[in-house]
Amino acid sequence: MLSTFDVRGRTVLALHAHPDDEAIFTGITLRRLADAGARVVLVVATAGELGESRVPLERGRTVAQQRITEVERSAAELGVARLVLLGQRDSGLPGWASGTHPRALAAADPDRLARRIARLVEAEAADTMIYDDEQGIYGHPDHRATHRIGATAAGMVRADSYRVTVDRERLRHHGPGRHLVQGAARSAGVGFGRTSDEITLTVTGEPDTVARKYAAVTAHASQIDAATLPGHDFASVYGTEWFRHDGPPGLLHLCNRPPRPEANHLP
Ligand SMILES: [Zn+2]
Repeated sequence: MLSTFDVRGRTVLALHAHPDDEAIFTGITLRRLADAGARVVLVVATAGELGESRVPLERGRTVAQQRITEVERSAAELGVARLVLLGQRDSGLPGWASGTHPRALAAADPDRLARRIARLVEAEAADTMIYDDEQGIYGHPDHRATHRIGATAAGMVRADSYRVTVDRERLRHHGPGRHLVQGAARSAGVGFGRTSDEITLTVTGEPDTVARKYAAVTAHASQIDAATLPGHDFASVYGTEWFRHDGPPGLLHLCNRPPRPEANHLP
């Protein structure tokens, strides 16, 4: 599909906590950025090694190895130009002993990791960053850590920041447990998302973009059972992504412009 806005020469760095977050929370956004010509650099902080695999793994293969393969497939679906694995460890849910592991993301020095991210932003000449909002979308310790690291790095390099969240009012309208974040928040015993009036950018996609998001989400087969996704209703539950952003419209706003009427909406 022809992009509706040309952002060639622009680079965005998206930082996520675990393999699958990039697809679930920003799949449409990353695909739209790539389709519009932006270079998309995806940084995944952990291998999500505490997520049990729901499918049998090949002998000798670890969950981390499986999940890295899955995020590589997802990244390809979403048009990611470069995937960087930070190599921290999944911290698990609040209160788990895994949260104090020496390599746990939640226990890591956020300034040290922020400096790594800032160097990447500079090396890539990225002007825009995407990372979790202040609440870590739904309060998972790794998502909160991702916010701290992203916000600190963005401050160091003065990148324009989009903070990822979900619209809890909109998701509740679809009913309980329709979006994966609702189940994740229930497991963690926390709330999730923001009210609609706290959201500053809502990104949607055309059916072909939503289809790429579906392919990216289901690439994470060790974690996500495609049969539990809202099949024909996928677009209504997952076809929208939400951000908080300060200041004048930035790169994501440009890519979110509606298609030109002559493109494919003639009566
Ligand atoms: Zn996550």
